[in-house]
Amino acid sequence: MAKDEPGANIAELIRPLRVKPGSRVNLARDFDPAYKLAGLTKKESAGLLRTGIAMLADYQARLAAQDTYGVLVCLQALDAGGKDGTIRHVMSGVNPQGVQVSSFKVPSAEELDHDYLWRYARRLPARGDIAIFNRSHYEEVLVVRVHPDNLDREKLPPACKGKGVWERRYREINDWERYLTDNGIKVVKLFLNLSREEQRVRFLKRIDLPEKNWKFSAADARERERWDDYQVAFSQMLSATSTAWAPWYVIPADRKWFARICAAAVIAQTLIDIDPHYPQLGKEERRQLLEVKAELEAQAPKGAPADPFAARSRVSAP
Ligand code: ATP
Ligand code: MG
Repeated sequence: MAKDEPGANIAELIRPLRVKPGSRVNLARDFDPAYKLAGLTKKESAGLLRTGIAMLADYQARLAAQDTYGVLVCLQALDAGGKDGTIRHVMSGVNPQGVQVSSFKVPSAEELDHDYLWRYARRLPARGDIAIFNRSHYEEVLVVRVHPDNLDREKLPPACKGKGVWERRYREINDWERYLTDNGIKVVKLFLNLSREEQRVRFLKRIDLPEKNWKFSAADARERERWDDYQVAFSQMLSATSTAWAPWYVIPADRKWFARICAAAVIAQTLIDIDPHYPQLGKEERRQLLEVKAELEAQAPKGAPADPFAARSRVSAP
């Protein structure tokens, strides 16, 4: 893409965030949670985000009209990583009819009675839609791995939960995402990468401000104690499941404003790549439309223009 083409800046912005398929990720070494584009200020970022949001709205309208591709956005983060705010801001311009957000919590009894991908499969986007997973099937190789008692609750046959279970899940997830991609459902994976210190600050804010208290739970503090285990689980998951068809993007999350721009950019890039178009009518359909147009024009009351819309907007008659 030429440097001045629309989308060139987006491609440049997200390139350093992409986890190269096949690479071995060490989160702490490879991705800085405080990274931002050199020279970009928070002030300038507001305009940039507005542009991104407008772009998403336009592309989503075309995605829905074309009705061929669906987009699945998977959001993963540690607690206080900013998933909710990212969804709120980035999707603020799109038509709510075309977007479904699903939040995945501790599985219910009914969900535990099924294979582990079942509950995620039920929330996949239809063609033309964008589905956002607030937490996703990746919890199955993250929280379930860090706390293996979760695996016991999943009622697997004994032979299916021994050694190699995580490698097997990586493979199953990759295969599932490949199947989806091959069938027109594009998978976008965003990991909001927060530093330990920034999490501490955000937890304190949730404790200090009464209106934020509901966002904090003692469980969040307990999970924080397992920080290093999660870093390992995230690193392995990123290494094993960043694929050519569904790569991971590690979003620097210490600055919320920058994280939002990056998230919008990755989703926008997916839509740019899909390049959805409004459907074009065939010759026969077009002829039928013109027939109806002639009938409607003939029904114009006395003194009214035959086609007030065309008269007002000066569209050239077909
Ligand atoms: P918030 O940001 O509002 O706290 P949240 O996504 O953290 O939102 P919670 O209800 O606080 O929502 O937490 C959901 C919990 O469910 C998380 O701790 C998550 O790890 C856990 N969870 C999600 N999927 C699974 C799973 N498959 N097995 C076990 N636990 C899961
Ligand atoms: Mg929580």
